[in-house]
Amino acid sequence: MKVTRALFDDVMAPNYNPAAMIPVRGEGSRVWDQEGVEYVDFAGGIAVNSLGHCHPAMVTALKEQGEKLWHLSNVFTNEPALRLAKKLTDVTFAERVYFANSGAEANEAALKLARRWALEHHGEDKTQIIAFKQGFHGRTFFTVTVGGQPAYSDGFGPKPAAVDHATYNDLDSLKALMSDKTCAVMIEPLQGEGGIISPTPEFIQGVRELCNQHNALLIFDEVQSGVGRTGELYAYMGLGVTPDILTTAKALGGGFPIGAMLTTKDIAASLKVGTHGSTYGGNPLACAVAEAVLDIVNTPEVLDGVKRKEQLFRDGLNAINAKYDVFSEIRGKGLLLGAALNEKYQGRSRDFLVAAVAEHLMCLVAGANVVRFAPSLIIPDADIQEGLARFERAVAKVVQG
Ligand SMILES: *Cc1c(COP(=O)(O)O)cnc(C)c1O
Repeated sequence: MKVTRALFDDVMAPNYNPAAMIPVRGEGSRVWDQEGVEYVDFAGGIAVNSLGHCHPAMVTALKEQGEKLWHLSNVFTNEPALRLAKKLTDVTFAERVYFANSGAEANEAALKLARRWALEHHGEDKTQIIAFKQGFHGRTFFTVTVGGQPAYSDGFGPKPAAVDHATYNDLDSLKALMSDKTCAVMIEPLQGEGGIISPTPEFIQGVRELCNQHNALLIFDEVQSGVGRTGELYAYMGLGVTPDILTTAKALGGGFPIGAMLTTKDIAASLKVGTHGSTYGGNPLACAVAEAVLDIVNTPEVLDGVKRKEQLFRDGLNAINAKYDVFSEIRGKGLLLGAALNEKYQGRSRDFLVAAVAEHLMCLVAGANVVRFAPSLIIPDADIQEGLARFERAVAKVVQG
């Protein structure tokens, strides 16, 4: 069968609009399409391909597990899931792990757990969930409602109730909403989809203190910021603020679908037998791959490398900006970076992305005003230089009109 982009429109639901070319192969931070054209990958499958494409350790883990055991359901446990859970609890604040298949599912579990915990410990009035405008937490109806982008959550009828939104980096706006009825505050410790926004230290510490004052759980959504992305294993480690619940997905599987919710023993106790579940959660293939990813990412070599590569990106993007004057700011942390467009180019991030693809570079946007980069955490320096050279040509084309 000849597979073409036209086939997409014939057989797929129209909720995506993928690029014209179809990638067929990847290696490290390079990808090839059906015609053999090579692309540099600064998108990393939206912050997922933490070790690039087809990393040998991941391929080995998948092949070895693939010849042993694929699936059991949660009627049985399995070795890869227990090994991964042990490693995650060893290297984070957490003592208990719940496995899911995606970021949205990990967040769904976190929100349901918070509601259960509040009901059990504080009574039925403590239901309010507070999140932040521009935040993104996934596309299930609960998580998209908690996310702060009405464009994603409107148009589906009545929403889950008792969800409110404060303004990121505005502690007073959170204070004004909080009370003893607040059950949990959910926040990205670095807003991704919303435009690559870092929290100020005072703000994120203030969020923690408000949660303490009102006996509310603090949930860090680290689906995008986690697993080495910021140069720390999890972003909370660089902020000096520890959440009560943390969710992780995307880079955790490096390309194999997995999500996890991490929390303490006491809070997890509210998730009693039968209260929540997922057919595939803790799947042996997913957990075996994630274990291989974690073993590699959580090393000084990789984490320090992320910080060094961040500087290469910043230097390169600043040099491009010095020539073409298109960005107001380069922001973000580690290898989750945003080039915010200046006044003159407001609303045009997609133009830069399209121009980049034409120069054989894959990158991302974060809203209409930010070009986003989330490459492999081990992208070779030479690929960064080559990708930036291609990006410069794309910028030149947009500027020339
Ligand atoms: C991508 C993302 C999600 C949703 O993850 P899925 O795997 O698409 O369900 C949730 N939260 C954040 C911060 C994300 O970036």
